[in-house]
Amino acid sequence: DSELGFTEHLFKVLVIGDHKVGKTSFVKRFVKNQFYEELKTTIGVDFSMKVIDWDSHTRVRFQLWDIAGQERVRGLNRVYFKGSSGAFVVYDVTNRSTLDGALNWKHELDGQVMLKNGCPIPAVLLANKCDETKVWNASLLEKLCQEKGFIGWFQTSAKENINVDEAAKFLVKHILQNN
Ligand code: GDP
Ligand code: MG
Repeated sequence: DSELGFTEHLFKVLVIGDHKVGKTSFVKRFVKNQFYEELKTTIGVDFSMKVIDWDSHTRVRFQLWDIAGQERVRGLNRVYFKGSSGAFVVYDVTNRSTLDGALNWKHELDGQVMLKNGCPIPAVLLANKCDETKVWNASLLEKLCQEKGFIGWFQTSAKENINVDEAAKFLVKHILQNN
């Protein structure tokens, strides 16, 4: 906060979900507006930063944490989740088991980190690769979101740039409400 009434926030935001669902692609689309058909699976955690001028007196630095190829290394998670303000939980609409995976990730997230008031940190469910097939189970997703405590869901395509910015804006809005 500054005397000029200009506020800068730094938000750590996790991008979690099963292997190959499009987490890295989502981040690259959001941060660089690019898409790569062949992405190397790197080991470790990729950090990306995107600055969003939310309004004339609020700047948001969005620090995205993307697990790279260690989705199954559960021991990593406690350190990884620490201090995060929000999360994108991604699944692949062409691969049903990744939806179960996403729900497991949400469960894991809620067990590791919470807001000061004890509520879960805001998490958005992303039904990614919607360019491949239509999301036919919208009402199921609606229900899952309610049950599992997601703030909402979007069908996204990192490839075709569908709903990427919309999902991010939605998450920022909710994170700002908690600050
Ligand atoms: P990650 O393991 O979750 O980080 O997944 P990647 O971002 O590496 O993506 C895995 C594969 O899915 C890559 O071949 C991507 O090109 C592809 N992919 C990612 N997002 C999309 C999408 O929105 N639509 C389609 N059709 N393919 C995608
Ligand atoms: Mg990746």
